[in-house]
Amino acid sequence: YVAKKSHHGYAVYQPELDMHSPRQLSLMSQIEEAMQLEQLALYFQPKIRLQDGNVIGVEALIRWHHPGEGLIPPGEFIPQVERSTLIRPFTLWVIEHALMQCRQWQDLGLPTKVAVNISARNLLDSELPDDVEKLLVKHRVTPDYLELEITESAIVADPGRALDILTKLHDRGVHISIDDFGTGYSSLAHLKKLPVSSLKIDASFVSDMTEDENDAIIVRSTVDLAHNLGMNVIAEGVEDRETLDILKVLDCDYAQGFFICRPIPAADVTEWLRQHTPQSHH
Ligand code: C2E
Ligand code: MG
Ligand code: MG
Ligand code: MG
Repeated sequence: YVAKKSHHGYAVYQPELDMHSPRQLSLMSQIEEAMQLEQLALYFQPKIRLQDGNVIGVEALIRWHHPGEGLIPPGEFIPQVERSTLIRPFTLWVIEHALMQCRQWQDLGLPTKVAVNISARNLLDSELPDDVEKLLVKHRVTPDYLELEITESAIVADPGRALDILTKLHDRGVHISIDDFGTGYSSLAHLKKLPVSSLKIDASFVSDMTEDENDAIIVRSTVDLAHNLGMNVIAEGVEDRETLDILKVLDCDYAQGFFICRPIPAADVTEWLRQHTPQSHH
């Protein structure tokens, strides 16, 4: 059994997370085909600047339109992919499709930065910086339009190699951010060495901050920590107006969450961007 710590702190058994269940094994055997048949699709969730509400970018989130099972969320197959060598082609598939979409938004006059989640295992792959560079060139996207979201725990396996890979990416102009900040093996010693431009405060702190004083304190401390380290800070999982307002008061830079916009297909994002991008007047 794989017990997952739930949002509220107790362990619950989630059959879909059992790596060795027949369903998991069957899904894994189908994922390569799913990539080739374009059954995988990227959804995108906007991130906004709290001061003015303007969009600052979108995060790509994978969905699997399975012919038999319908829409499968990433939590049900990513952990398994991450443990296999498939994670390399998978991550490159995601980056490539995110960049293709990024190119399309630029061509439509709606230039938008895209963020892609990358896995611990990708940070053991020394070819990642070159692979990313090739995809940027192929799709004519400048590196500052790409952000890679990593978790704190992704660095612990081989901190030296991870630092080398991230530094190469950063030197080429790709932005790096720390996802789910506050939930992993936080090492401030690692953090200060990493070429990171922003911290994403985990949704578990943000979603209860209007009721839980300790969560509010953690959020405020993280905002201060980020700013003192010269980083930006973004709150994940903003689900209501009250939370958004408090984040503004706490001087948080950016926000993302269902209250602002759910993850939606690319075509819907195009519409959303049209409505949320300030028109330039000529
Ligand atoms: P994440 O990167 O931390 O992404 C945020 C997750 O929170 C997404 O779930 C998003 O739909 C959800 N979310 C956003 N706003 C809210 C909110 O206001 N309330 C709540 N309750 N949830 C919100 P999703 O799409 O199911 O993805 C789950 C995780 O799967 C991601 O967490 C990320 O770790 C992983 N993932 C998703 N796509 C990819 C991918 O392309 N590659 C890799 N390696 N991992 C991915
Ligand atoms: Mg993320
Ligand atoms: Mg997150
Ligand atoms: Mg996550």
